[in-house]
Amino acid sequence: MKVFKFGGASVKDAESVKNVASVIKRFCDEELVVVVSAMGKTTNALEEVVELFFNKGDWQTKLNDIKDFHISIAQGLLPEGHELFERIESIFETIADYLKGAEGNGYSEVYSEMVSQGELLSTRIIKHYLNDNVKKTAWIDARRMVRTDNHFTDSRVDWELTKRNIKSGIPQHTKDGIVISQGFIGSNGQGKTTTLGREGSDFSAAIFATCLQAESVTVWKDVPGVMTADPRKMPEATIIPELTYMDAAEMTYYGASIIHPRTIKPLAQNKIKLFVRPFTAPENDGTVIGRGHAKQHPASFIVKIKQVFISFKVTDFTFIDEKKLSIIFNALDQLNIKTNLMQTSAVSFQICIDKKFDKVEKLVQMLEGEFEIDVREGLELLTVIAHNAEALSQIYQREEVILEQKSEAVYHLLYVPEKKHIIMTEEKKRA
Ligand code: ASP
Ligand code: MG
Repeated sequence: MKVFKFGGASVKDAESVKNVASVIKRFCDEELVVVVSAMGKTTNALEEVVELFFNKGDWQTKLNDIKDFHISIAQGLLPEGHELFERIESIFETIADYLKGAEGNGYSEVYSEMVSQGELLSTRIIKHYLNDNVKKTAWIDARRMVRTDNHFTDSRVDWELTKRNIKSGIPQHTKDGIVISQGFIGSNGQGKTTTLGREGSDFSAAIFATCLQAESVTVWKDVPGVMTADPRKMPEATIIPELTYMDAAEMTYYGASIIHPRTIKPLAQNKIKLFVRPFTAPENDGTVIGRGHAKQHPASFIVKIKQVFISFKVTDFTFIDEKKLSIIFNALDQLNIKTNLMQTSAVSFQICIDKKFDKVEKLVQMLEGEFEIDVREGLELLTVIAHNAEALSQIYQREEVILEQKSEAVYHLLYVPEKKHIIMTEEKKRA
């Protein structure tokens, strides 16, 4: 059995969906579970609907745009009068009714219920197209498979229950057909929709693969494979043909947007290979991530945007000691915040984290009694893995560097973004 994952960019319009179907067709003699994300930028659009709803704005118009977008894709794929068109209308009525009744519900609960609709819609449309043009296809609601804890967002998987659900719910459908399911979504013990964190569909593919003991996961992307830098930002980037799980974990930890960071662990533990391949050129091998031997890789550049630098200063003329640190780490743990960088000095402790939801505000609220807190938003974090003098000389010198850290393996630079790209080739620097 193989698990495939297709992200939003691979299903952004009718032509792209046809391309996805042609990729799947190449493998349709095999047992296949296909995990798909929301179409194009639908998740962002649904997030906007949620924002508008909570800010008492005009969410109806935005929701209508999302409906029109899906209908127009379906029109490019399915014959006029297909049963799905009515279904889409009724799904959007249900969504609107849900929101009208959601007054007083918590933000993250409404968020997950709403954004999950992107994946549910995209897989419904693609299911019908595959069914009519490639092979019999079974649509599986991932919320009935992936059981999580009660955090509505960034929720954690209950592996035992999930394994039970997937083992009893999937294999009977892969024998004579394709299974299509949604990435990113699950449900909690009360049957309410939960989400695994933005870009979480890769992780979903790993969950399905782990529970089914699949031979591999293939993440089909709009890049040739795992690259030494984001090719949109650095055209000189080259493909890395082979990586170990450890290399890949490190790259994703520091924000390489190739795959969701949580994807690697279950695959490594179960020795399931992960392929990253281009959906525009499915004959190419792309990158394989597996056990392999560690190799000397070329330097890789990773830029993480929307970074926040927070400084906690002691106010009572004592020092930053274990007690103070444990107060901070406790708060980070409670809010499920991952630090990208940290630094201590005698009287202050500093961290760099992602700007996500209202977590920065909550962290400040929790700790402002203990520390003098300074928050600086809108920063970027550059990480260079396997750095060397030549790689570091390509960094464009910024006026404002917030923090620089260098260890044997990794180099970090936290800076205020300017117009110029952070990585410049020698020619560009001279120009
Ligand atoms: N649709 C979700 C997102 O855009 C999940 C995913 O694409 O992996 O974050
Ligand atoms: Mg995506």
